[in-house]
Amino acid sequence: MLYLIPTPIGNLEDISKRALLALNNAEILFCEDTRVTKKLLNLLQIDYSDKEFISMHSHNEDKVLQKLDPEILRIKNVGYVSDAGMPGISDPGAKLIQFAQKNNIPYTVIPGPNAAITAFVASGFEGEFTFYGFLPHKGSEREKKLNEVINSKTISILYEAPHRIEKLLNELKEKIPNRTIFLAKELTKIHETFIKGKAKDINITNSKGEWVVVIDKGETKNSLTLTYNDILNLPLPKKEKSKLLAKISSKSAKEIYKELE
Ligand code: SAM
Repeated sequence: MLYLIPTPIGNLEDISKRALLALNNAEILFCEDTRVTKKLLNLLQIDYSDKEFISMHSHNEDKVLQKLDPEILRIKNVGYVSDAGMPGISDPGAKLIQFAQKNNIPYTVIPGPNAAITAFVASGFEGEFTFYGFLPHKGSEREKKLNEVINSKTISILYEAPHRIEKLLNELKEKIPNRTIFLAKELTKIHETFIKGKAKDINITNSKGEWVVVIDKGETKNSLTLTYNDILNLPLPKKEKSKLLAKISSKSAKEIYKELE
């Protein structure tokens, strides 16, 4: 049977009894990084001398799964552990689940630590939310996704790396200065920090650490929703039309402009 096992996102005490049991019982452990998992097992005082470790991360998971005999998952106790938190959330895990589903292998997911949900609850925002994970790092892809987040009718949750948090904050200050945002840093750790306020009023003095950004939903009053076809039929110059269409499609304004010719 396959167990997806969540691990602490900072505080070792957050390991659950079920997760401990699954880690102890696992005969084979698939790990995002075997070194990270072995370090955790040492901290948890779990003897792993008899366990087999198989590295499985975003760059090799297809290959590993191609070679994997489904029978092994049926007859052995197998676990999957990402570096921290819940596997499958901005971490590998989904492909292994798909493999189990395809091959009728019994599996379970043990609930546990997750930065997005913890930050959302800490934010005090109420209502529907959308989890975006990491934004694309740069270029028009980032711009497009960020616009989607900003125009979202739900609360948005983003993950961000320490070396990019200031960039993201500056983008939010520029685009939505008066929107309330919530930053959670180093959740569950000694230096856990919460910052809430209007984007324009927030300044970060120390970006070191792990961050979750929660953004309140945008004002929906007076907003108008246009479909792709609505925009196509607007009496606008081709250039303006392409720019608008690019905002709601995966194509660039240039590509759309060409199609409109
Ligand atoms: N699977 C993990 C989970 O369940 O939350 C997320 C893995 S993702 C690769 C790592 C990102 O999650 C970090 O860059 C950060 O944005 C967020 N994160 C993880 N641990 C965190 C923590 N203790 N405090 C704040 N954010 C954290």
